[in-house]
Amino acid sequence: MSDVSPAQAPYWQMFEAVSRSVLAAYGYSEIRPPIVERTELFRRSVGEGTDIVEKEMYTFVDRGGESLSLRPECTASCVRAAVEHGWLRSGGVRIWHIGPMFRYERPQKGRYRQFHQLDVEALGFPEPEVDAELILLSARLWKRLGLADIRLEINSLGSRAAQAAYRDRLVAYFEGHRNALDEDSSRRLATNPLRILDSKNPGMQALIEDAPATVDHLDDASAAHFESLKNALKDSGIAFNVNRRLVRGLDYYTGTVFEWVTDELGAQNAVCGGGRYDGLVEEIGGSPAPATGFALGIERLIELLVIQGIEPPATAPHAYLVAVGDRAARAAVRLAENIRDVDSNIRLLVDAGEGSFKSKLKRADRSDARFALIVGDREVDSMTVGVKDLRGDAPQTALPVSELPGYLDARLGDRAAG
Ligand code: AMP
Repeated sequence: MSDVSPAQAPYWQMFEAVSRSVLAAYGYSEIRPPIVERTELFRRSVGEGTDIVEKEMYTFVDRGGESLSLRPECTASCVRAAVEHGWLRSGGVRIWHIGPMFRYERPQKGRYRQFHQLDVEALGFPEPEVDAELILLSARLWKRLGLADIRLEINSLGSRAAQAAYRDRLVAYFEGHRNALDEDSSRRLATNPLRILDSKNPGMQALIEDAPATVDHLDDASAAHFESLKNALKDSGIAFNVNRRLVRGLDYYTGTVFEWVTDELGAQNAVCGGGRYDGLVEEIGGSPAPATGFALGIERLIELLVIQGIEPPATAPHAYLVAVGDRAARAAVRLAENIRDVDSNIRLLVDAGEGSFKSKLKRADRSDARFALIVGDREVDSMTVGVKDLRGDAPQTALPVSELPGYLDARLGDRAAG
């Protein structure tokens, strides 16, 4: 579990600002579900045999004797909220949430125990066009952030009935090769055979390569749905690769699944994953309703921004106010307020601490501010500031406070955007 430092926070703010704007452009509304839910919710949705529920949840019994868990993902909470509040009674809802998720994983690069997701869900819509909409929305997010080289992989798992039939086929196949299974896969054969396809063990890859694939055993409706999705993506100019081995680690998926992957993050190469989960609303106690959605890993996405050299807007102060003399020091806070009154875009830091004028200017320099505003008794009396350019060669000048915004605008470009 990590802290986000002041130096990292601008990346998070940029990601969140761009996401909000893109999500608004597609008509998605924010929701804020709680971080803790009944453990039962995740058992029923994510699934008993999954790694997440089997060994990764932070589960505890509260003082009332109820088993609760820190959410390991957010789709279950979104569906629970929609069912509980009847959001699906009047048709579909498009919702999103950003927040922390918790999984007791083996920590490694790109895998953390507290991590953050942007979760986007469209509940109540059966159409493949809505799956396409989610994919286009995420593609637009990459474009708006300036990210390149994120590839789309898609697959279809088929309806629940088709999955059950496929599962039998898969079990029969792996049982025919029992001796070739590693320990993990032997265990999964009984609990969750689909997960064997996800094994990273190089020794298992040939066996997995020859295993039956879900896309070859789809029911007619899922096959048609998948074709329509592919056509919608082609019509929109979105390149994709059908990855016959893509299964995802949660039980609730039906039909389409997808992942956005990159070669730049090492082993944890997925920045975003999702798909259709048409059975979940009913399993959680609602009237049957189709649904589709995705979750994006924010830590991985920010890592990718850093790797690709994409920088957030500057947050350094525009100005750093240095007071010289006791009276000016006492007036500095009030003067800074006057400046903020006339210039609502300013990022102004007021010097604090002991020391000579020279050491105050050193602090001004270290703050990364562009200008030092120097205030002595005379300036306090006349409501002016001495302006010293710390980074360029503009001559030092004295300005009435009222003229400061115009002066800064002329030298700092579009400050409102920064
Ligand atoms: P999932 O909820 O497992 O489908 O994951 C969706 C996305 O969340 C993944 O593609 C990752 O980007 C991210 N993610 C999942 N687990 C972790 C983790 N332990 N640490 C960091 N990011 C994660």
